[in-house]
Amino acid sequence: MSADPKTFQFNLDPAKRPRNVVLEERWYPGIQTAVLDASSSRMFDPIEGIRAVVIHATAGSSSAGAASVILAKKASFHWLVPDEDEEQHGKFVWATCHEARAAWHVRNDKSHPDIWEGRKRINHYSLGIEIVNQAVSSDSYSPWQIAATAQIVRYCWEKYPNLRHVVSHAKLDPKRRSDPGTHFPWNDFRDLVLKGQDDQVETLVAAAKPIHASSAAEVPCCMVA
Ligand SMILES: [Zn+2]
Repeated sequence: MSADPKTFQFNLDPAKRPRNVVLEERWYPGIQTAVLDASSSRMFDPIEGIRAVVIHATAGSSSAGAASVILAKKASFHWLVPDEDEEQHGKFVWATCHEARAAWHVRNDKSHPDIWEGRKRINHYSLGIEIVNQAVSSDSYSPWQIAATAQIVRYCWEKYPNLRHVVSHAKLDPKRRSDPGTHFPWNDFRDLVLKGQDDQVETLVAAAKPIHASSAAEVPCCMVA
């Protein structure tokens, strides 16, 4: 039985925010300035006002095709996850809009009672991730695409203290949209977000030498009076 993307949602516990999440991202060439004309000033605080991350699929087969909608000022989103036949796959995700801006990825009149008590204008309190996928069962998502998308969410979870909801576009706009599609492995994705991928980094942080008042020889020279 395939999953229904209109049900895809999970919530983040603020008490379990991860730490030290590293996001490998690069600006898509030519987008950083252009997207200012395809996004809006946020109505809410750009840090404390972020409540949701929306998961999309491009319904296309290339990052360039997805990025071109920004140049055409038709839509926008904050990150783009490359497809498995693209050179960037496995290495980094594309940054395609400043997080401080409201990107145009959900229609303004859409809302859902499960998402910040049904407030509309979701773009103003959310971040949008597009995954390059044709959103048909014959085009499967790669494990790296799922892991990279989860890593973006973890990065946001650490960064935005009021981020609570991770939701599909299909749930927000069920009559018009079905992305990221029935074949998106939502449960695996959720587990990657919630169980964490950077435990190794946490171990290294925990392994730091304790700081304590030490001998004068270890005081950096610039701090010597
Ligand atoms: Zn979408």
